[in-house]
This record gives sequence, C-alpha cells and structure tokens, in this order.
Amino acid sequence: MPHIIAIANQKGGVGKTTTAINLATSLAATGLRVLLIDLDPQGNASTGLGLEHGARRTGSYAMLADHQPLLSLVRETMVERLSLLPADTELAGAEIELVTYDRREFLLREALSGDKSDGLPYDFILIDCPPSLGLLTLNALVAADAVLVPLQCEFFALEGVSHLVRTIERVRRAFNPQLHLQGLVLTMFDRRNNLSELVAEDARGFFGAQVFETLIPRNIRISEAQSHGKPASLYDPKSAGSLAYAKLADELVGRLRPATGKGTAQ
Ligand code: ADP
Ligand code: MG
Repeated sequence: MPHIIAIANQKGGVGKTTTAINLATSLAATGLRVLLIDLDPQGNASTGLGLEHGARRTGSYAMLADHQPLLSLVRETMVERLSLLPADTELAGAEIELVTYDRREFLLREALSGDKSDGLPYDFILIDCPPSLGLLTLNALVAADAVLVPLQCEFFALEGVSHLVRTIERVRRAFNPQLHLQGLVLTMFDRRNNLSELVAEDARGFFGAQVFETLIPRNIRISEAQSHGKPASLYDPKSAGSLAYAKLADELVGRLRPATGKGTAQ
C-alpha cells in the first residue's frame, strides 16, 4: 500500500506546490514510485511539471466528479517513476459542485481504493492541496495517512496552523482515525534574515520534533525551475533548493520506517 501524504496549509504561497513537486521528484530519484495528485484548481503542480494549461484535459476532477478510474487518468512525467494526476480546468467549480454528492468527503478516498484489487503501483502518493480548508482539502485529509505542512519562514507563519491542526483532529475523529501530522517543513528559509531564525525557533518551540530538521532555503533556482515547467533537480541539480529537497525526501523516508514498520519497497 502506498503512503498517502496530503501537503496542506490553508495559506497560499507558503510552498505547498513547490514542496509537492520537488519532494515527489526527490522520492522518485531514490527509486520509489510516486504519484502526485494536483488537487488545486490553479493547477500549479501540473504546470510546474511541464503540463501546459491547454494540455491538461482530464484529471482529478474527472476522477472525483465523474468517477473515472485513477489509472486511466494519470500521465507520465519527464521524471522517471513520477506520475501526475493533473488538475483539469473544471476543478475550479468542484468545491461547490461536489457538495451535492453522496459521501462527498470520501470521493478521493474511494477513488484511490477503487483500483485496490490490483493494488496501486506506487510507493508514495502526494496530494497538493488548494489554499483553503474547503471540500477538496477535506477530501485529501480523509484519503491520506498523514499531513505534511509547509511553513513559510515569514511573518505570521504559524498563524492558522492551529486551525489546521484542529481540522486534522476533527477529520481523524469523524472520518479517518489513522490520519496524523507527518510534520512541518520550514520553507523559504533565509539565513541572512533574523526573522527566518525566529520563525524556525517558534515552530520548534510549538511543535518540537514534528518540525523536519531539513530547512528548505529561499533559492531563486527553485522558482525559476517552476517557471520552466521543471523540478529543481532537472533544472539545476546542484542548486541549494534541489539538494534540500533531496535531503527532505531522505528524512521523510527515515521517519516513516520506524513509525509504521512498512518498508519502502524498491
Ligand atoms: P503554495 O502552493 O503554498 O501556494 P508555492 O509552492 O506555489 O506555494 O510557492 C509560492 C511562490 O514561492 C512560488 O512562486 C514559488 O516558486 C516560490 N517559492 C516556493 N518555495 C521557494 C523557495 N524555497 N525559494 C524561492 N522561491 C520559492
Ligand atoms: Mg499551490
């Protein structure tokens, strides 16, 4: 069974999509099979992996709303072992439209278990969530084993995180008892800026070891890579950003092993 990880924070611009693309790529580089699900109507994860807006056709909306099978919708990417379920353009209306569906919180979970008889051919499924705690993010939390929360090292980084943690708690009680916080990742860390250090200290003060040791630095190559539709490791493999995400992937895999006893199948 794949590890299913929702990358969530209701704030926009904190590094969810960047983390989704680059963590997925780094996990794939270690030999793991990875699926990235783009659940944000803005479709930045799809564009960031080279899929132009016009080329998206069907994707996560077709799976959730029309019940089309996951494996008929996923695309291969330029990264070996990394597949993508893109955000189709209709996903923009999904928050409202899906409200009328039966078991509307379970649409993603059921879609991911639909192919279970043969097992899904992935070691990891990462879900890039939209910047809200609406129905799409709720679907991600109900389908996931764990939540990874990117925190931007800026003013008000922790604002809203307690709300997110309470939401995770509620989802665990109501829908998905196994859901847990996988950890918080500090993004856009800038050594020259005292504020970054303060945010890191604050986050570790509140969340202790749940904050990943790996710091993702603010690195222009990361955002340049995205504008070229590539993960950082293909755009500039030696860049600080690319190396940091490789380290984060190792730290994540290391944390999963003792906690779950699940190996990381190669
Ligand atoms: P979210 O998905 O949470 O809205 P993004 O991942 O799209 O956030 O990041 C917001 C912006 O910041 C994007 O333009 C992205 O390229 C840029 N960015 C993200 N992480 C970094 C980083 N470590 N260094 C430099 N720019 C970054
Ligand atoms: Mg995003």
